[in-house]
Amino acid sequence: MLHPDWQAALSVAHRHSLDFLNGLPDRPVRAANADYRKLMDALGGPIPEGPTDASEVIESLALAAEPGLVATPSGRFFGFVIGGSTPAALAADWLTGVWDQNAGLAVAGPAASAVEEVAGSWLVDILGLPSHVSFGLVTGAQMANFTALAAARHQLLADLGWPVEEAGLFGAPRIRVLAGSSRHDSIDRALRFLGLGTEAVVEIGTDAAGRMRPDDLATELSRNGGPTIVCAQAGGVNGGSVDPLTEICTATHEHGGWVHVDGAFGLWAAASPRLRDQVEGVELADSWTTDAHKMLNVPYDSGLVFCAHPDAHRAAMQVRAAYLVQAEEGGPREALDYNPEFSRRARGFAVYAALRALGRSGVADLVEQRCALAARFASLLAPVEGVEVIQPVTFNQVMVRFHSPDGDHDAHTRRVIQAVQDDGTCWMSGTVWQDRAAMRISVANWSTDESDVDRSVEAIIRCHSAAALA
Ligand SMILES: *Cc1c(COP(=O)(O)O)cnc(C)c1O
Repeated sequence: MLHPDWQAALSVAHRHSLDFLNGLPDRPVRAANADYRKLMDALGGPIPEGPTDASEVIESLALAAEPGLVATPSGRFFGFVIGGSTPAALAADWLTGVWDQNAGLAVAGPAASAVEEVAGSWLVDILGLPSHVSFGLVTGAQMANFTALAAARHQLLADLGWPVEEAGLFGAPRIRVLAGSSRHDSIDRALRFLGLGTEAVVEIGTDAAGRMRPDDLATELSRNGGPTIVCAQAGGVNGGSVDPLTEICTATHEHGGWVHVDGAFGLWAAASPRLRDQVEGVELADSWTTDAHKMLNVPYDSGLVFCAHPDAHRAAMQVRAAYLVQAEEGGPREALDYNPEFSRRARGFAVYAALRALGRSGVADLVEQRCALAARFASLLAPVEGVEVIQPVTFNQVMVRFHSPDGDHDAHTRRVIQAVQDDGTCWMSGTVWQDRAAMRISVANWSTDESDVDRSVEAIIRCHSAAALA
């Protein structure tokens, strides 16, 4: 075989990359320009009977995909909770593909293992977690929740003499899971994967902001329902609320339970000296989930799990097999011992590069500025006639409701959201908050600045006025 022409294929990719990135600030921020059928037609058809030149494949892929690319990395995309990619993180992610290391085993990629070990220890430091915690770099908060809850399942059942990894769950003591009603759905899905089942959940009442009520939790804990996991949240997907973590951890530990904190984006408050008190007590928990692909602005997919009980973490994940070459005790860190994946992308390179480029103060600034921009949204929208900012903005999330002269605020709010989505200036999604329709604005992109917020507010007000007249 001829030496492949890397130059040709990679330079086509490079050119399209720069075109996309340079065009982002002016790219309409909409769901997509093309309808799905047209995309299928442009990309589809039967499998080619024979080979096609790599650079030609990349050229035609880039052209066919272009109308179906959403400007989610834009500074004016405020839907869901979506970050972009900082230049250092993106460039490291390119190299990750180029190097193509299998980051499951240190022997197949010692640099990947070392970088993960360094990045993990930096994260533990800036997030203010206890220095002995173990960690795993997983695909996202979904798998971080899964991994953490697998460690919890191990520990709680091991304490009762039940070796769950060998014996499975048939006949095992039942684990109950206490969680607030505004928890993320990935918690329930992790419980499905783990065989604990969604019926294991006992919902704890929440206050007006969506925070778990400690008195309700205390009542439920004192019922003595057996081994217990409490799933707390730092950063609810609607308003960004944080459960009362100190009280939750103290009460749960008194009853021998395990506290898991889903802080997919909210845990990053801990990286800022000014915001850290919002997650006070978070370091008392037993396990934590967060994402690097949201607040830290690392490319997908990049989630993080931390566990205060490294033995339980390893017991739940570890694999040993004769054909693998695994490090001895005290040798390089084996990602396989902390992750649910076997072969895996070396996603530590991008996390490392993001942290190294920002430094401790840069991460704090990144988080604080996203929160300041969210507050700017609220302060510009709140005085507008007919606009209701549903709760004080405490983090990066804003919830807004639009009042209509005809009194049907739900319908009007949905119309405004639709109009904003069609307008193309910015994109936000809707939600239902305490039975009322609301627009949710999530500021997570590193490149968002005040002018992005001001342009977006102008578009929102325009759509609100137009929808009121319609
Ligand atoms: C985004 C999010 C998740 C799911 O995270 P993925 O990275 O998409 O798997 C879980 N919990 C919370 C609170 C989130 O915001």
